[in-house]
Amino acid sequence: MNCNIVKDLIPLYIDGCCSEESRKIVEEHIKDCDDCKKLFEDMKSSSEVITVSQSPKTFSKLNDWKASVLQSVLLFVSFSLITIGVALESRTPLGIENGLWAINLVIPATGFMLSLANWYFVRVYKSRKSFSNSSLIATLGIILCAYIWSGFHYEMSLFDWFSGNNFHHSMIAFLFFNGIGILLTIVFCILSKTLSNRYAKMLGKE
Ligand SMILES: [Zn+2]
Repeated sequence: MNCNIVKDLIPLYIDGCCSEESRKIVEEHIKDCDDCKKLFEDMKSSSEVITVSQSPKTFSKLNDWKASVLQSVLLFVSFSLITIGVALESRTPLGIENGLWAINLVIPATGFMLSLANWYFVRVYKSRKSFSNSSLIATLGIILCAYIWSGFHYEMSLFDWFSGNNFHHSMIAFLFFNGIGILLTIVFCILSKTLSNRYAKMLGKE
């Protein structure tokens, strides 16, 4: 068999798209012909390299896309919560009993949304763990700062609430007014930690 014909058949053989007859011809020929055997092995190994390097690329592109979708959805949901909370809060007259429940929706959602800014720096962090921990700290830190701000906004005095002989009653009032906020803070902190971890995993971070 002519070497040139076999050389034409080798790529088809490697791709598995030649006839049974051609397949036998190639196999028979490379047993005896060192030239064609070498060509066959070179082409086979280079085709394997291409297959191997292509699949993680497709995989990571899909995951990049998933990560972007996750980030966008979270941004949209948390911003919507803030908008709803602010709209409702502005319709109620100023006063602890009126607007505080709405601010308890706005503050945890704001903390979570602002912590998403940290996600743009995911590649700066050494590990997935340090990234998710910093996201958690950012969420909690922003929420606490916003609560301190809201204390001024509603002209609350924590000192008045917790001092005197009415501590028990004040504590119940505090938990009553801020109960939803405390619950949402816990929920958003857990979400921040777990979702940032998931996000980093999608981007292939160890
Ligand atoms: Zn040959």
